[in-house]
Amino acid sequence: MAVILKTPGEIDAMKEAGQLSARVLREVGAHCKPGVSTLELDDLAETFIREHGGIPAFKGYGGFPGSICASINDQIVHGIPSKKAVLRKGDVISIDTGAIVDGWVGDNAWTFAVGAVSDEVKDLLKTGEKCMWTGIETARAGNRMGDLGHAIQSVAEVAGYGVVREYVGHGIGRDMHEEPNVPNFGHRHLGIKLEVGMVLAIEPMITAGTHRTRQMPDGWLVCTRDGKPAVHFEKTVAITEDGPVLLTVEPDRVRPV
Ligand code: MG
Repeated sequence: MAVILKTPGEIDAMKEAGQLSARVLREVGAHCKPGVSTLELDDLAETFIREHGGIPAFKGYGGFPGSICASINDQIVHGIPSKKAVLRKGDVISIDTGAIVDGWVGDNAWTFAVGAVSDEVKDLLKTGEKCMWTGIETARAGNRMGDLGHAIQSVAEVAGYGVVREYVGHGIGRDMHEEPNVPNFGHRHLGIKLEVGMVLAIEPMITAGTHRTRQMPDGWLVCTRDGKPAVHFEKTVAITEDGPVLLTVEPDRVRPV
């Protein structure tokens, strides 16, 4: 399968899906409080997306039952929302969600602290977010995919953290997962050339301990092998003549990159 480049008009059209994805992520994040179950968060997300004219991109994708992935502490990604998964003070939770608008998909994730978290976890959160911004900053025509992965990996490993290998970012457009893969690790000057018109979901998954993962028996949930916490940050980003442009961003919250 080849990389599907997007025209400037198509990138503009993708902003609708991106903006709704960002709004629902903020909305769910605001409800990540002690005592709330991930199923409640899922209901909130689905209602919010549909009320704003979108379709939850995750629901039914490959059979996934939720509109969000909700992954707590040592859970890295793909947690199925559940009544039994109730947030407690000191937890971190990765919320991954996306919306389809006019046939275009937005995909984004953020790891939220539930109440006060330890200094160790605070540092992990800060570094995970920095990894994402570093990757986004590197998403420029002329760089190679290995430059992007290397930049993310360096930030994580200098801070003493692990970078998940088995799960990576991806191209995105009319499908949630398109070519190319976007690894959060790599070697400078290697890999495909980044081009104007690529739209990428850049999503570092950073671990406090080992980068090794465990696939859980439900076939979805992925945890760290050592039980230490992980964080996950993601945005959908277009590579343009003017550099990286965020698509999963709320209109009133544009952060220059
Ligand atoms: Mg993604």
